[in-house]
Amino acid sequence: MRCPYCRHADSRVVDSREADDGQLIRRRRSCPECGKRFTTVEEAVLAVVKRSGVTEPFSRTKIIGGVRKACQGRPVDEDSIALLAQRVEETVRAKGAAEIPSHDVGLAILGPLRDLDEVAYLRFASVYRSFDSLADFEREIETLRAAARAREAAGAEPASAQ
Ligand SMILES: [Zn+2]
Repeated sequence: MRCPYCRHADSRVVDSREADDGQLIRRRRSCPECGKRFTTVEEAVLAVVKRSGVTEPFSRTKIIGGVRKACQGRPVDEDSIALLAQRVEETVRAKGAAEIPSHDVGLAILGPLRDLDEVAYLRFASVYRSFDSLADFEREIETLRAAARAREAAGAEPASAQ
């Protein structure tokens, strides 16, 4: 690894430690030429396979962009979007595969987005699942209503038990 200070072609690893639950390794390096120290991060590359067969590195920034677009005009703050993207990355990385279909990434977004904002969820789902009729929306909205009723029923129980 080239020294970022003096551009010397080599450096020595002085310390290695796991971070992020073993997802990545940080190495402390020392330059034999100028003596300065710097840190490198080693992380397994996660490739996303698009429908066309083309692969690209997984990008949390891309997830944030897509979700932000779906959340336009909705009362959703940037922190929530960043947190959602982090959850999505954790979900897809937890599968332990080196490659993941873009379809699965979209799937991993749907669940947390539904919890975050139902309108944004509908927007995202309509594109992702290529809704092409009102019936598709109706079916999805009915599913959302059923889930809301289930949540309400679950939430009402502890209160009435007191
Ligand atoms: Zn150096």
